[in-house]
Amino acid sequence: MNILIFGATGSIGIQSINVVRKLGHKIVGCSFHSNISQMQKIIKSLKYDIDVFSSKVTALNTVKTIDQLFEKTKPDLVINAISGFAGLEITLKTILNKIDLALANKESYVLAGWKIKEIAKAQGVNIFPIDSEHCAIYDLMKNKRINKLLLTASGGPFYNKEIHELNNVSFYEAKNHPNWKMGYKISIDSATLMNKCFEMIEAYYMFNIKNIEAIYHPQSIVHSMIEFSDNSVHAQMSIADMKLAIELAISKFKSKVPIIEKLSFEKLNLSFDYIDENKWLPIKWAKYIIKNDDRVLPVIINAANDAAIELFKNKKIKFNQIIPIISLAINDFSNQKINNIKDIFILNSIIKQYILSKF
Ligand code: NAD
Ligand code: MG
Repeated sequence: MNILIFGATGSIGIQSINVVRKLGHKIVGCSFHSNISQMQKIIKSLKYDIDVFSSKVTALNTVKTIDQLFEKTKPDLVINAISGFAGLEITLKTILNKIDLALANKESYVLAGWKIKEIAKAQGVNIFPIDSEHCAIYDLMKNKRINKLLLTASGGPFYNKEIHELNNVSFYEAKNHPNWKMGYKISIDSATLMNKCFEMIEAYYMFNIKNIEAIYHPQSIVHSMIEFSDNSVHAQMSIADMKLAIELAISKFKSKVPIIEKLSFEKLNLSFDYIDENKWLPIKWAKYIIKNDDRVLPVIINAANDAAIELFKNKKIKFNQIIPIISLAINDFSNQKINNIKDIFILNSIIKQYILSKF
């Protein structure tokens, strides 16, 4: 299979390259943002020529546009491992080009899940989830009637702390996830539980189910569960290693090559709990969005969150201001309307600028 990877230099991108090579597929092209030295390393490690594109730095480019990258490489599968809003364009281009997609970029579904489903259906393409919770649910899907999706949440680094204890946490502490080594954006989202909010919306659009609960599970061994109509619960378990999800998505959930270490049951303690939605507002927002099919709120919270993380990274605000800033944006913009993809891009930049100029 010929595979084109977007966001090749990131955490998921690099692990994807490893998995693609182990499975014996061919990487035909890569996109990256600005990490030239990492991209050079990748090019060197492959024993054949690939096409490369970045819209930020042009030194390694073999094509001039994303469209040319698609045309020249003619991939059978695209891996979208770009972080944040920029991933949406790649998801749309991939399915419009009738190419199957292995999707790590959860923001695509958060921002435009309704449109992505519509296009994927019309084009007859498959979207395979790399996000570990969704990958687990996809893997568990059976013919029994599903009652509820149970997305596990590690809670990030601060779950058991009181909000007032988090006033002075640094960017470094906030991005230091206890179980997963990930890019900084998703790591901060784990600490605020915005990541779980995004994943609940992602799961709604991906699986067409409104009954979704986030369950606190600090060990990150159970990647998600399905409650069936007979009240039996099926869980997918493994060590916390994204290579499993990447391998399942690339092999379209058919291949079962062992790509990760076995789970050791010695002293394995698993615990679970319900999440207090009054303490963790992002869970409340996700439920509201799912219940009301709200198309505007996901764009607002995503944009305000992006801006707040940038402000926190640049030490302009404290960690504890991220969620109040998102609340402020919800308050100021929830009367807006989203009718098409263009509206998403416009509202996103208006809100980002609004928040960035305010602090
Ligand atoms: P990362 O920050 O390590 O890598 C991001 C990649 O995206 C880089 O290759 C970068 O070059 C590219 N990129 C960033 N901004 C871009 C832009 N404006 N235009 C083009 N390319 C750009 O992030 P990551 O942790 O690998 O996460 C990637 C995606 O996968 C995110 O959507 C994240 O939520 C999702 N995800 C990650 C993990 C994980 O374990 N890391 C798990 C589940 C889901
Ligand atoms: Mg996840």
